[in-house]
Amino acid sequence: MVTVTLAPGKEKRVNAGHPWVYRSEIARIEGELPPGALAAVSDHRGKFLGQALVNLRSQIAGRLLSRVEESVDAAFIERRIREALARAGRSVAGPGACRLVFGEGDQMPGLIADRYGDLVVIQILTAGMERLKDDVLGALQRAVGPRAIYERSDVSVRKLEGLEFRTGFAWGSGETGVWIREGDLAFFVEAAAGQKTGFFLDQRENRQAVKRLARGRDVLDCFCYSGGFSISAGAGGASSVLGVDISTEALSWAERSTAQNGLGECCRFVSANAFDHLRALGRERRRFGMVILDPPAFTKGREALAGALRGYNEINLRAMKLLDRGGILVTCSCSYHVDAATFLDMLRSAAADARREFRLLDLRTQAADHPILLAAKETQYLKCAILEATN
Ligand code: SAH
Repeated sequence: MVTVTLAPGKEKRVNAGHPWVYRSEIARIEGELPPGALAAVSDHRGKFLGQALVNLRSQIAGRLLSRVEESVDAAFIERRIREALARAGRSVAGPGACRLVFGEGDQMPGLIADRYGDLVVIQILTAGMERLKDDVLGALQRAVGPRAIYERSDVSVRKLEGLEFRTGFAWGSGETGVWIREGDLAFFVEAAAGQKTGFFLDQRENRQAVKRLARGRDVLDCFCYSGGFSISAGAGGASSVLGVDISTEALSWAERSTAQNGLGECCRFVSANAFDHLRALGRERRRFGMVILDPPAFTKGREALAGALRGYNEINLRAMKLLDRGGILVTCSCSYHVDAATFLDMLRSAAADARREFRLLDLRTQAADHPILLAAKETQYLKCAILEATN
């Protein structure tokens, strides 16, 4: 196997448990490495650190797959996937949905696998995982036993790896639109056309929190997508729910799920730009007992951080002004580059501008089936703050 040797001192992060090697940290490579090939990684003294999938086209050139000298074959991949399935209360059968594999969080860098009932949806993000695809498909078939495996490898990070987009059935066939159960609720998921792999599984536990707090409140759910928070609020006894999203297709799924759960009287949806709609509701002096904000990642890079924070500030300021006394703001950010401390600072400044005071009831993160590596803060991307207006 080809060995990748790190420059002096550059082994520290890997030794601390982080799975990445940056291209700039590599001192030399003995041999040819096609994109995504498996290589041994060693420190500058030649001490073995692990085996990584290496793609020199990407700034994140190495992703550690194993820290011991073992053979990476079909049995290894199946073992890794079975270990992931046993983690974080993931279930492989029934009408429920869960994330089965969360990339680095499950020591399977570059692979996402979600289960929606009998359908598994995968995303392959790196050239390294691309090479292991057949073993991954075989292992998922044996360990999960799905009707089909659908591929949604249409994410922009693939470009950084020199990979084209690819979507379609990787194995099996049938419908891509499926009904899933979450607790006592049903949700329609369109795996072929939805955002990410179809549904925001990372917000599952935050939907439960909304359900617990919504009783008797008029709820505004901005960036509502297919209605996950809206329907949870309705099921939790909200007086009314208004969901806002720019995508009419997502709202059509929200309406299907609303009807299926018998919440047609309570939940209403409008297609609009949430920035404009928040402004319009403010002009109309509308008030809400709960506002939910779950915008898309405003930044994918560090460079655009200032602009992203302005965007977060604007929607949070406007949402705060719409709250009744004692009203609740559930506000999220899925931008990894906005860390929890920065997010809270932004909320403090928005609250000051809105002349509102809040208690921080809860500071939440992604659902447990999106495991976070302590050593790799990049694996924790979701923030969900729950604030209660005290004035
Ligand atoms: N809260 C949702 C997930 C939101 S994903 C859930 O838990 O399921 C972000 C959503 O924001 C997408 O549905 C996208 O269509 C929508 N969106 C993006 N920009 C928008 C804008 N300017 N105004 C309204 N919706 C927008």
